[in-house]
Amino acid sequence: MRLLLTGGAGYVGSACLRYLLENGHDPIAYDNLLEGNREAVPDAAKRLVEGDIADVDRLTDALKRHQAEAVMHFAALASVPDSIADPEAYYRVNVAGTKSVLDAMRAAGTLKILFSSTAATYGFHGEMPLRETSAQTPETPYGTTKLVAEWLIKDYARAYGMGYTLLRYFNASGADPSGEFGEDRRHESHLIPLVFQAALGRRPKVTIFGSDYPTRDGTCVRDYVHTTDLAQAHRLAVESLEPGMGRAYNLGSGTGATVLEVLRACEQAAGRPIPHDFAPRRPGDPGVLVASPDRIVGDLGWAPRYSDVETIVRTAWAWHQRRPHGYSE
Ligand code: UDP
Repeated sequence: MRLLLTGGAGYVGSACLRYLLENGHDPIAYDNLLEGNREAVPDAAKRLVEGDIADVDRLTDALKRHQAEAVMHFAALASVPDSIADPEAYYRVNVAGTKSVLDAMRAAGTLKILFSSTAATYGFHGEMPLRETSAQTPETPYGTTKLVAEWLIKDYARAYGMGYTLLRYFNASGADPSGEFGEDRRHESHLIPLVFQAALGRRPKVTIFGSDYPTRDGTCVRDYVHTTDLAQAHRLAVESLEPGMGRAYNLGSGTGATVLEVLRACEQAAGRPIPHDFAPRRPGDPGVLVASPDRIVGDLGWAPRYSDVETIVRTAWAWHQRRPHGYSE
C-alpha cells in the first residue's frame, strides 16, 4: 500500500516505516524533525518529506503526490509530565495537529487513518487489565488531548466516509533488533532511555518516582511493548482497514513490570550497577497500567514476539551502547 506516516522519522513512526518497507509496502514519512531523525528513515532523500502537520497545504500536497491510500498519524507530543507543565503545546500539536491531518486527508481524498493513541486515555481507577471498553476518563493533559483526537477522528469518519483504527499504545520501548535504530529524542523523559543514559555516564543517575505505590515492590507497574511488535500491529491494522470501518485496539503485552524490575533487567543487560535514587511520586502517574490485548489478538492475529522485558532492554541496550549520543554521532 502507498502510505504516509506523520511523525515517520520519530521513534515509533520510523520503526513502523522500516517494518512496512520490509513487508512490501510503499511508505513515506512526513516529519518536522523537531524530535524525529532523518537517519531513522531509510532512503530519506526519497522517503522523507520535511513538514509540519500544522501546514495543511503541504501535507495535502504530500498525500496527493504519493497518492496515499492511508495515513498513519504518529506525529505528537508524548510526555505525561511535559503535558502537565505545558498543556498549550499538547492541545496545539495533539488536537489541532490531528484536525490538520484530517483536513489534509479530506482535501487529498485519503479515506483511511490509523491513529497512535494511548493507555493514558483511560481512567486509572477502574478494572485492570484495561480493555477497549474500559472507561476513558483521562487524568492528564496528554491523555485528554489524545482522547479529544480520538473523538475528532470518529466524528470526521462518520461525516466524511473515512475508516479509522485507534491503536492505544501502552509503554512503547525497545530498539530495532539490528541495533541500528532506536530511541533518540532531543528531550527525553522516558524510563528506559534515561536508565541507559545513566549506565553510560551521560547523566549522573536515574531517579525513581515513587516507592510507596500499592504494588509488589512499591514502584509503578507498566506494560512495556516493543516497537517492532507495534509495527506488526500497524501492518495488520492497515491491511484490514476499509473506509467506513471504526475500530480501537489496545497494544500492550498483557504483563506488567515495576520500575525496579526494569532497572534490574537493565543492569543485567548492561552487566553493571546503574546509579539511581528515589524521589516522591511524579504527578499524573497511575500505580498500575496493564493492557488486555485480547481484542487485536483475536481480530487480527497480532502475535507480539519481542515484548518481554528482557528482550526489550537487551535490544535497547544494544542500541544505546552502539550510539550513546543517538543518531547525531
Ligand atoms: N519513571 C521513573 N523515573 C524516570 C522516568 C520514569 O521512575 O526518570 C517511571 C514513571 O514514574 C513510570 C514509569 O517509569 O512509572 C514509566 O514512565 P515513562 O515516562 O517511561 O512512561 P509513561 O508510563 O509515563 O508513559
